[in-house]
Order: sequence, then structure tokens, then C-alpha cells
Amino acid sequence: MKPVVGQRIAEEPCQECLVGFGPEKIRQDFPALRVTVHGKPLVYLDNAATTQKPQAVLDAVVRYYTQENSNVHRGVHFLSQVATQAYDGARTRVRRFLNAAHDHEIVFTRGTTDGINLVAQSYGRKYLRAGDEVIVTAMEHHSNIVPWQMICDEKRANLKVVPITDAGELRLDEYERMLSDRTRLVAAVHVSNALGTVNPVREMIALAHARGVPVLVDGAQSVSHAPVDVQALDCDFYAFSGHKLFGPTGIGVLYGKAELLEAMPPYQGGGDMISAVTFEKTLYNTLPYKFEAGTPHIAGVVGLAAAIEYVERIGRKQIAAYEADLLAYGTELLSAIPGLRLIGTAKDKAGVLSFVMDGIHAHDIGTILDMEGVAVRAGHHCAMPVMKRFGVPATARASVAFYNTRADMDALAKAIHKAIEVFA
Ligand code: PMP
Repeated sequence: MKPVVGQRIAEEPCQECLVGFGPEKIRQDFPALRVTVHGKPLVYLDNAATTQKPQAVLDAVVRYYTQENSNVHRGVHFLSQVATQAYDGARTRVRRFLNAAHDHEIVFTRGTTDGINLVAQSYGRKYLRAGDEVIVTAMEHHSNIVPWQMICDEKRANLKVVPITDAGELRLDEYERMLSDRTRLVAAVHVSNALGTVNPVREMIALAHARGVPVLVDGAQSVSHAPVDVQALDCDFYAFSGHKLFGPTGIGVLYGKAELLEAMPPYQGGGDMISAVTFEKTLYNTLPYKFEAGTPHIAGVVGLAAAIEYVERIGRKQIAAYEADLLAYGTELLSAIPGLRLIGTAKDKAGVLSFVMDGIHAHDIGTILDMEGVAVRAGHHCAMPVMKRFGVPATARASVAFYNTRADMDALAKAIHKAIEVFA
């Protein structure tokens, strides 16, 4: 089976994929994993918030600024051409990474949030009318809720929310029922950052397309965990962030099908997004530049390309298989801790362990774990509706990457036991 996210990656890890996979060796590539925290070796389990960067990414960014720094698409001089080649070459790498059909379907953004806002402000503003509907799920990150609320308010359209089960799984039956001739767009998260749920996006997209409705997928948490093929998914838009994929902050990608992007107006105006300007009228540039106003984050793009190259060298099938094993191990350890309740127990899950504990607030867990060198997230994870759905103010969340090990999971469990002792 081709392990595309959304196809039960957690259930069917590819065991042969793990042959030759060496997290200990991989860890050497990440300088930040060598730091100590409160005198203890860092156990970094906050990868859903952001990932650490391999030396190859750091080197690519330094090389760019030391040897290639110049603006793109503007100069005839040597360095400008080098920078332009690096920038446009990175687009091809991203296109291959997502298996998109064309380079011009890849728009560089500031991140997932920026990509979703682009679609809301461009596609949403053009096509939404009063009484229309946009469908999101109950497990969205705020960045896939608020942009839709803003444009729906402006257009007097309605936001519909697909409910989830107590395990944190999408109610596909309800989703199907909610699709109607008023639905103009579906915006759904691929992998939930708060619960780890892998949504059946392929089925969701097929159901929406049967009614002519386009689908945006929030891929912030999926690209770093398993292969994603936008043509196989047949999604209309796919957004992700470089910093969650071992690349720099401030850079991201919006994939969009060419015919949709062609029909959409620019989101922002400025340099590079035009082909001709007079005070009477401006002609816009072709794709993807129409959506890339101003000097882009060139160093970020270069770093993102290096991150993708690094991830591809390890292999996304290997990553998916390794993390599925790590998640199973961590789930077993944490489930055995008295008074601990996992929030998010979907059958298809990526490497997120979100939990609450009897009598200990999530922030206190986070603080005690930190004293042990274990970095987890504590809070609402920018998914307040998820917290409300499960009746908790916050959770503690450990989230894994391919450089984490079973020893990290052991350290997590040990630190949780310490928290229990402190609060006993
Ligand atoms: N969606 C999901 C599922 C996320 O986890 C995040 C980041 N936590 C975002 C969107 C937003 O990403 P960014 O802040 O990089 O734009």
C-alpha cells in the first residue's frame, strides 16, 4: 500500500521501511538537540509547534546570505541570477515533493496561516455570496477557522462545522449530510495538531467534488510525517509551513490547482505581482507571481528546499513507519499511567500524544516536565473549540519527529511520574 497520509498510516506501518533507519545518527544532524535544559539533556517533544533544523538547512541559509544574497527576478547581474535560480529551483523541488502537476501551482507564502488567508481573501471574496456556506471541521486550528469567519461575516455567508466523536474522529456521515448546494468550499485539516487525528481527506474531497465543491486541506501537520500527493488526493488547495518541516520560520507553501488560481484575483498588490502598471490600470503577472507581491523570503525558500531535500533523503515512508512505531510505544506507556487521560484516540493518528491528568493542570505538567528537560506544549494549542469539545481547559501535548526515540518516550513517562509525585 502507498502510505499517503489519510490512508491509515498508523495502522499499517511498513516494517521493511525501518531497515537501515537510524534515529541516533539522524540526531547528530540537529545541533539544537544537543543543548541542555536546566542541566538536563533536552528531550524535544514539541514538534507540532515547530521542528528543529538540521545542519544542512542552517548551512543552506548561511551559504545563501554569504555567497548568493541578491534580490530575485529583478537584476541582470550575476548574483541576482544565482538567487533567482535558487528561488525558482526551490519551487520545482516543492512541486515534486507534493507531486503537483506544475511549478506555477506552487505559491510561496509566509506559512499555513498566510496560505489559508490568501484563499479566504481571494477565492472567498470572489465567490462567496449571502447565504452560502463554508464547511470546516470541529478539530481545526484557529488559522483554519478565523479566516473563514472573517470572510463569511463580510459576505453574510455561514460557517458550518462537522462534528467529531469522543475519540476525536471526524463524523464522515454528518459531513456528507452537511454538503449542500449552498456549500462553496470545504476547509479541513489533514492531521489535527491538538488530537493527532488523520482525517480521511481523500474521501472528503471525493464527496465534495461529487457536488462540485472545492476543498482546501490544511497540511501543517501532515507533510513532515508521511508522503503527500496532491494529485492523488485531488485537493484543490493545500497549505503548509516550512518551520514544521525542519525548515525556516516565515516561509510556507500554498498549492492550488492552476485553473482555480488563474481565476482568483491577487491577494496583495505590489512589486513582482504585476506585468505592467499605469495609474489607469495594472495588468497582473502570471502564476505563481500574481500571488507573490514584494520581495519574497528568499533565504526561507532556500532553507525550505534544503529541508525537503533532507526529508526526502531519509524517506517519507521510513518516517511514517518509524513514527507510527514510536506513537504506539508512547501510547502504551502513557496509557499505563494512573490518572492520565489521552485526548484524541482516533484509529488513524500521527505522532501526537495530547493528555490531561487528574488533579494537575496542563501548565503545571508542562512546567515540571520542563524542569526534567522534557519540552512539551501545554495549553489550547490554538484549537480552543477542540478543548471545549472535550470539556478541558488545556492539555499537555507531546509530539514526535523522526529524531525522537523510545528513550525520549521513556523520559516523558518518567517526568510525568515525577509530576504525580510532586502533586501527590
Ligand atoms: N494548522 C495546523 C493544524 C497547525 O498545527 C498550525 C500550527 N500550529 C497551523 C495551521 C498554523 O501554522 P503557522 O503558524 O505556521 O502558519
